[in-house]
Amino acid sequence: MSERNLRNELERSCRIAVLTHVHPDGDALGSATALVLGLRSLGKEVSFFTERPVEETYRFFTAESQLIETMLPDIYDWMIALDCGAPDRLGAAESAFLAHPHTLVVDHHHTNTGYAHTNIIDGDSASTAEMVFDLLNEWQIPITPEMATALYVGVVTDTGRFAYSATTEKTHQVAGALLRLGADSNEIHHRLYEVTTLASLQAKAEVIKTLRFFCNDRLAVGFLPRSVAQTIDVGDAELDGMSNMLRNLQGVEVGAFLREREDGAYKVSLRSERIVDVSAIAASFMGGGHARAAGYTSNATLEETIEALQKAVASTL
Ligand code: 5GP
Ligand code: MN
Repeated sequence: MSERNLRNELERSCRIAVLTHVHPDGDALGSATALVLGLRSLGKEVSFFTERPVEETYRFFTAESQLIETMLPDIYDWMIALDCGAPDRLGAAESAFLAHPHTLVVDHHHTNTGYAHTNIIDGDSASTAEMVFDLLNEWQIPITPEMATALYVGVVTDTGRFAYSATTEKTHQVAGALLRLGADSNEIHHRLYEVTTLASLQAKAEVIKTLRFFCNDRLAVGFLPRSVAQTIDVGDAELDGMSNMLRNLQGVEVGAFLREREDGAYKVSLRSERIVDVSAIAASFMGGGHARAAGYTSNATLEETIEALQKAVASTL
């Protein structure tokens, strides 16, 4: 379906549900918020669903969300998933989304197989927010300052403040347009990157204590046990920069941050400097992501998880 026909389809619908991936980041929440507000401006009844309440760090720009467990999928004419590379990343909404007759995916993960009826996927786009910016323009939906703020957050977080290699000339053009439309970059950078919490600082200290190096010091692995995360009461958003911190160490090619989740599994977050395609490594463990940023969940023990990761990284260096 063309993007114009898609707009006509959405125009005919009354109720729309917008979803994104579990543990949503700035791009997930920013692109979803802009689309939710944009579709509402067309007079649609749009509900935004997340698995858990949105973390404090992101609340300044995020549209009010409802919990997925309260969702009644049958009442929606369309279900839209943003920034979600694979259906299992929809968490509790996966089966409802896959069973729905009218679904749309907008995403920039090159590993996305296109699990919706209509799929808009651009693996070269640095963020889903850039794609939503294009769609809103194509559909002639005005971008308000609130929507511009949400999209700017998506662009700035998924490009690591315009630093990652996926950042293009277009990324900067979109960012410039968003500033013109009312995004306040100083305020956004301040809220996202300057204000930190004591819990985040304490988590860093804990991770640094666990730091181990493998593959001739080119792989750095840090770990946060569940008991410590509970004691310091740290959320996902506050742990967001951890794998970058490890990857940024001089001489390190891959930074891996392992977080023990409440169910005892390990969430592995990978970042690479310039050689290793971490999305391929994550995919080999049933995860996914981008060449320089990817992740997966391991149900093995901590030592087995590290051992398997070390072998996978060694084979690519
Ligand atoms: P992060 O390390 O920030 O959690 O994730 C980095 C990138 O990898 C993001 O683009 C994210 O969508 C992707 N990613 C992280 N964990 C998973 C996972 O378990 N499965 C898949 N398919 N992608 C993941
Ligand atoms: Mn993204």
